[in-house]
Amino acid sequence: MKAVRLHAYHQQPVVEDVPDPVVKGPLDVVVRIGGAGVCRTDLHIIEGQWAEAMAPVLPYTLGHENAGWVQEVGSAVTNVAVGDTVILHPTPTCGLCLPCRRGHDMHCENSSFPGLSHDGGMAEYLLTSARACVKLDPATRPQDVAALADAGITAYHAVAKAVPLLRPGTTCAIIGAGGLGHIGVQCVLALTAATVVVVDRNPDALELAAQLGAHHTVRSGEGQDAVAAVQDRTGGRGADVVLDFVAEQGAENEGFAMTARAGSYFVIGYGGTLTVPTLAIISTERNVIGNIVGTYPELAELMVLAQAGKVTLHTKTYPLAEAGQAIADLDAGRVRGRAILVP
Ligand SMILES: [Zn+2]
Ligand SMILES: [Zn+2]
Repeated sequence: MKAVRLHAYHQQPVVEDVPDPVVKGPLDVVVRIGGAGVCRTDLHIIEGQWAEAMAPVLPYTLGHENAGWVQEVGSAVTNVAVGDTVILHPTPTCGLCLPCRRGHDMHCENSSFPGLSHDGGMAEYLLTSARACVKLDPATRPQDVAALADAGITAYHAVAKAVPLLRPGTTCAIIGAGGLGHIGVQCVLALTAATVVVVDRNPDALELAAQLGAHHTVRSGEGQDAVAAVQDRTGGRGADVVLDFVAEQGAENEGFAMTARAGSYFVIGYGGTLTVPTLAIISTERNVIGNIVGTYPELAELMVLAQAGKVTLHTKTYPLAEAGQAIADLDAGRVRGRAILVP
């Protein structure tokens, strides 16, 4: 089969032939990929930022946002059958450790991360496990939902944690209306009555956010004072919740600065360094909250919103062979919403 393989850090991945994956264990599932999202994390992987944490053996196949159809199942698989349409939780988990039993899929002690720790789904087929499969309405086109498997679940997870804080009358600032952020905007609007302010340096992204129903949009970047603009729209208080889908290139420090007293700053994007005097944390009782992907039930809930049309992904599809172009377009900021590879 064809697969998008990373051979060395700081070099573009290449599309090449590799053997098809096969079922080995009783709970293994091989999925025929219908869509694989291209994510900023892929850019970070190529730059080597995940090398130490995930220690993949190069070369390997990228792709951690996957959906498709079940192709082959192991002898003990009962929850899906050959031909089922599925979206895949990004980390196949063991189901037996304490974090799994608490429902904290991302903290499973025995999980793997296809696309980061070993072969992922930018390919014709992917090996995963029964526990990762969320069965979908057969009418669903995998390419339309693939990015919800990581970008979507990550945005939804943060929003779900913020929901109890977002009572009517509160304000939620969302930094970055790109691949994750534009899903975050829709989730906040679907789940809360908060006022939504979207901050982005790109006017096209702000336009998309406004079309999705954001109440206010604020330009950030050079020559702009996004912190002051958010304070202006909140009577000088700042936002009760800030969801930072960028968290690099200075957005992280602006994000904390625009958080209201006793408010919460959610870090979802990454790459930058948050510099905060501890005095500023205690004197204002602001919270800084980390977020990594999400749980299996959260992915299932997000699919309910997607199938009800309350969360739609803005996508641009590319044939698998044009993965290099998709990655270059994402890197250059030419993708509105999400780039999806279709084998
Ligand atoms: Zn991703
Ligand atoms: Zn586990």
